[in-house]
Amino acid sequence: PASPQPSNADTVALDRAHVFHSWSAQGALKPLVLEGGLGSTVWDNEGNEYLDFSSQLVNINIGHQHPAVIAGIKAQADIMATVAPAHAINIRGEAARKITDHAPEGMNKVFFTNGGADANENAMRMARLHTGRDKIISRYRSYHGNTGSAVVATGDWRRIPNEYARAHVHVFGPYEYRSEFWSDSPEQEAERALHHLERTIQAEGAESIAAILLESIPGTAGVLTPPPGYMAGVRAIADKYGILLILDEVMVGFGRTGHWFAFEAFDVKPDLITFAKGVNSGYIPVGGVIISDEIAATFDERVFPGGLTYSGHPLAAASIVASITAMEEEGIVENAAMIGRDHIAPGLAALADKHECIGDVRGSGVFWALELVANRETREPLSAADMGKVKGALVKRGLLPFIADNRIHVVPPAVVTAEEVARAMAIYDEALSEL
Ligand code: PLP
Repeated sequence: PASPQPSNADTVALDRAHVFHSWSAQGALKPLVLEGGLGSTVWDNEGNEYLDFSSQLVNINIGHQHPAVIAGIKAQADIMATVAPAHAINIRGEAARKITDHAPEGMNKVFFTNGGADANENAMRMARLHTGRDKIISRYRSYHGNTGSAVVATGDWRRIPNEYARAHVHVFGPYEYRSEFWSDSPEQEAERALHHLERTIQAEGAESIAAILLESIPGTAGVLTPPPGYMAGVRAIADKYGILLILDEVMVGFGRTGHWFAFEAFDVKPDLITFAKGVNSGYIPVGGVIISDEIAATFDERVFPGGLTYSGHPLAAASIVASITAMEEEGIVENAAMIGRDHIAPGLAALADKHECIGDVRGSGVFWALELVANRETREPLSAADMGKVKGALVKRGLLPFIADNRIHVVPPAVVTAEEVARAMAIYDEALSEL
């Protein structure tokens, strides 16, 4: 007889006995069980369904179990499931070409990694070797991953216990709702943040700085869309001082904001782009660096001192080819833009009109944040206890939320439908009414 499906309680017990979790004290964990999914919906084995408005870790852009991606992985597994990175295999070249097809002119090569952190790690390494300089400037309120330099480039609490790498400097970026610069317009915020960046570069010694590393839109830190002029200003400052610009598109790339790359909405061209998550929606772990022709040429004669056993893994490559092809053919990036503009934006605006606790709404595409406050005047963040209540109220009603600090990030898959957004808005409404 077939073995019975385990109950949720059994699955949690097994997990707690043997699985060590990320970023957590292990003792009190009680993870939610998920055993299946399709599109924007996930479920357990006991008949509980959830609208996935987290996209897990904001990475399932193409939705759960897209048949073309599953088929692509299976087909490649039947031919050649693994190969060393030094060999050439067609599917890897195709994956790199599909990615660079969507990158700016003059960025034609891809170095594949296992995920986003090591993409940033290798982008910083390339920048340091290309410029012969050491320091990396990144921002407070950022997340770049959980490895040596990437976690030290990070600008949230996760950096502090991990600060082993050297030569990292942080600056504040624009954040209009909680400005560090006493500004009262987007223009002023951009201008003052740029002044702060340039003064930091001068004080640190421009000739010591290899790269500025920025998320095109800081994600986990709160969907902090830069004000007009900021990104172009960063590019101009970088050029003035011979500094490279690395844009981290790990969370925002491949459709999340309604563009193939989030930086397309701003007047800026990076020297290096890092990606992961949305490139294949995490069906197989993968990330990488898209490299400008000029930086790639640095390593024509000189050895690039970096590599990974699974760089350009064929199953990952197959999932990328299938995923980007499906996104192109099905208009999934366009769907993200339309859903953001016509459904999420008005839906969240209506919630903000009704609920005093919503202090700010910002975003684009399928990448939004609601900032919850105890007091609209003082903008005091909603307490952790109240955020816990909101989370419980959402899950109870069948919506899987992404909660960070005092924010709900509204980040469904890019394939989400208008009907699913309407259902989610009703659930947010009820949960906030319960507060
Ligand atoms: N960069 C950004 C902007 C991210 O959001 C993340 C993960 O959330 C990373 C890098 C790290 O990616 P990974 O967890 O795949 O190493």
